[in-house]
Amino acid sequence: MRVRGVCLQLLFTVGNIIPWIGHRDAYICCMKMTPVTSIALERLRAVSLRPTRQRVALARLLLENGERHFTAEQLHSEAMAAGVPVSLATVYNTLHQFTDSGLLHEVIVEPGRSYFDTNTTDHHHFFCETTGQLQDIPGEDLAVSKLPSPPSGTEISRVDVIIRIRPNGD
Ligand SMILES: [Zn+2]
Repeated sequence: MRVRGVCLQLLFTVGNIIPWIGHRDAYICCMKMTPVTSIALERLRAVSLRPTRQRVALARLLLENGERHFTAEQLHSEAMAAGVPVSLATVYNTLHQFTDSGLLHEVIVEPGRSYFDTNTTDHHHFFCETTGQLQDIPGEDLAVSKLPSPPSGTEISRVDVIIRIRPNGD
C-alpha cells in the first residue's frame, strides 16, 4: 500500500518490529488497519509496549472476543486457527508482559494453573472445581471485612477472592 506516494512497507517491517512512530498512516502500510487493530495498537502504546506483530496479533484476538477468562493454551489454539504463527512459549511470554503492563489480570486458581482475564476492573471469581470455569463476581458484591496486616515492609496491592464451587451433590 502506498502512503503519500511512497511504499513504506519495507522500511517499517524490518525484523519483527513495527516501530511506533506516531503516524497512523504508517500502520495502514504495514498491516490491515481494522478498528480492532487500531484499538490493539492504542492499548499497547498506552502501556509503552512495542507493537510487534505478535503482540498486535494476540491483542487483536483478545479484543475480538470480548471480556473473558482463558488459558495460554486456549489463546495459542486460537492463534493457530487464525493463522498467527506463534509458539506457546511466546504466547506465555506475551501474556505475562500484558499482565505486567496491566492489560490483563492473571488469576491463579491453583499452583501451576492460571487463567488470564481481560476484565481488569476490581472483581472476584467463582471457580468451579468440576468444570474449571471461572465466573466474575463484581467487586461491589463482596466485602472483605477484616484483613491481616501485611508482612513488614510490604503493602497490600490488591485482594483477589476465589470462591470455589462445585455442582450440587458432588
Ligand atoms: Zn474475571
